[in-house]
Amino acid sequence: MTDEPQALPQAIETWQTTLNWQPTKSQQAQLQTLYELILAGNRQLNLTRITEPDEFWEKHIWDSLRGIVSWQPEKETDSPSSQEFPSLPISVSAQVIDIGTGGGFPGIPVAIAQPKWRVTLLDSTRKKMAFLDTVIAALGLPSVTTVSDRAESLGQHPQHRAHYDLALVRAVAEAPVCAEYALPLLKLGGFAVLYRGQWSESDTDTLKSAVAHLGGAIAHIAAFTTPLSQGIRHCIYLQKTARTPSEFPRAIGVPAKQPLG
Ligand code: SAM
Repeated sequence: MTDEPQALPQAIETWQTTLNWQPTKSQQAQLQTLYELILAGNRQLNLTRITEPDEFWEKHIWDSLRGIVSWQPEKETDSPSSQEFPSLPISVSAQVIDIGTGGGFPGIPVAIAQPKWRVTLLDSTRKKMAFLDTVIAALGLPSVTTVSDRAESLGQHPQHRAHYDLALVRAVAEAPVCAEYALPLLKLGGFAVLYRGQWSESDTDTLKSAVAHLGGAIAHIAAFTTPLSQGIRHCIYLQKTARTPSEFPRAIGVPAKQPLG
């Protein structure tokens, strides 16, 4: 790695063929600034080991955005490409939470692609959230806020419980644990996206029985590979179908120690 940050790939064709979307010039500039700020932040905080431009683009930016693509058929459009991101069917000004956001993934790329969504970045590490406050200010993202707390506490907080249209959870814990963090925070009808790598039928069975306790159901499982290194990915889409019983999420640490399923 040289000291000067390199340019992220523009990847116009890849965006187009994989998501039928391309970032605008200003979104591309925001993604580049995000990359530079993360590299700078990495000197003090352990944010990511992925620092090369192609890998950063694929594993942090593309991967973050692939998770919010709708699996439902797209509306017919006249133009072959769209400036509008082909997102999950939630309202234009949706309330979104990224649980265990770490260095801001997937929440910050999502906020750049969907500037009208109101995005809350949640992590228990206060230092990372203080850093993300500076990133949000530098990127000019007024619709993004940070909260330093545990998902187990936030899920029992009256201002946050049943408040969100969409919850995103990447690389935080086993899938049933992520479901216990996410479902209490969702409004009825809201979605959670669990970003996973490998996935098996037995994972589906365990998760199905976990979400049944939480008022949720598996709505869809998307299997795909990443566009540069062909890494295996699965996005598991949960929908909140009933109120989550008040005992969930359980006390701090219990979901991870005794996962539902
Ligand atoms: N989501 C980011 C990504 O994909 O790059 C960060 C993943 S990092 C491996 C996991 C993050 O989840 C850490 O920053 C950790 O502090 C946070 N985390 C783990 N358990 C949590 C909990 N119960 N509540 C809030 N944050 C949590």
